[in-house]
Amino acid sequence: MGNTFPGGAHEISLSNGNTSVFVDVMMLAASATVSTEWGYRFAGRIALSDQNVFGLGTAGFALEDLDWGQPGENAAANKRLVLDTLALAASRYRWDELDYFPPLIEDVLRRFQAMVGDFDTTSAAPDLDDSLFPGPEEVVARSCLRHRVLAPLVAIPDCVFCDGR
Ligand SMILES: [Zn+2]
Repeated sequence: MGNTFPGGAHEISLSNGNTSVFVDVMMLAASATVSTEWGYRFAGRIALSDQNVFGLGTAGFALEDLDWGQPGENAAANKRLVLDTLALAASRYRWDELDYFPPLIEDVLRRFQAMVGDFDTTSAAPDLDDSLFPGPEEVVARSCLRHRVLAPLVAIPDCVFCDGR
């Protein structure tokens, strides 16, 4: 069992273990890159992929599921934020704070960078399923004080490192 992350002509399949590592390193990076409402919604999407909270095999999402915003400036800026977050994660940002060493995730992050880089944000479906991408009212600018990591979902006050790891 694992999780699938399609986008455009790409598709990335991750084991449940690699998915957890991806969520960890992306939340560390997003805690530094995110400062806009859309950014908190994106961080909320990553937090929704925390299998410790939502169950194994439920983490996957498609780039088409994200509400990228209007074509032009918003969508371009939002795509740039995702690429910046992936790049910061790939630079091993705060990996010294993990209680394991995740070098294998570097290849996964490079594949995500290629997938997002190639993605046409105007190809997103017009009838977005809002259960797959948090709306503005579902996210909050909040960090876990203990881990200094975003806890962006209104419904989940803990960060991904709080939940018993
Ligand atoms: Zn925490």
